[in-house]
Amino acid sequence: MLSVECIVNGDLEENCYIIHNKSYAMIIDPGSEANKIINKIGNLDVIGILITHYHYDHIGALDDIKNKYNGAKIFDYTSHNYNELECFKFKKINNFGHTMDSCSFLFENENIMFTGDFVFYRTIGNYDIENEEEMLKSLKNFIKLNDNIIIYPGHGPSSNIGYEKRNNYFLRGI
Ligand SMILES: [Zn+2]
Repeated sequence: MLSVECIVNGDLEENCYIIHNKSYAMIIDPGSEANKIINKIGNLDVIGILITHYHYDHIGALDDIKNKYNGAKIFDYTSHNYNELECFKFKKINNFGHTMDSCSFLFENENIMFTGDFVFYRTIGNYDIENEEEMLKSLKNFIKLNDNIIIYPGHGPSSNIGYEKRNNYFLRGI
């Protein structure tokens, strides 16, 4: 059983998540307040750091976190699609558009997905017009996923895919 905790970071209120079982932990998007994150981690053994994309508000504390937990493996859009690390089994799904290094991490057994700045509660991440086609492609893939998957975005509240399909303007008619 995995627990998910959210730590809101910095002026842009970025969501850093810690997922853990009793002993192992992974950090998703180490925002900008390393001390806040490290305090929350406590005695957990951090074995992975997951990066949804390299915007500053998501990785401001990355160097400090890497120094503190120097054995932790980094995962990002360049990682394998299927990953397994101790108790964690997850899929990396590239979803370019917001940036061309954006990805989500889907934990199929737990039915949870970390979407970064790709899909938020009732909206999506901003993107440059030249990346519109990529964003559309990413959204089309997103709506093929199971409705009951809970999404944890990089900003704002969590949601689920079914709710977003019905209520997110940007997912309608694509
Ligand atoms: Zn971003």
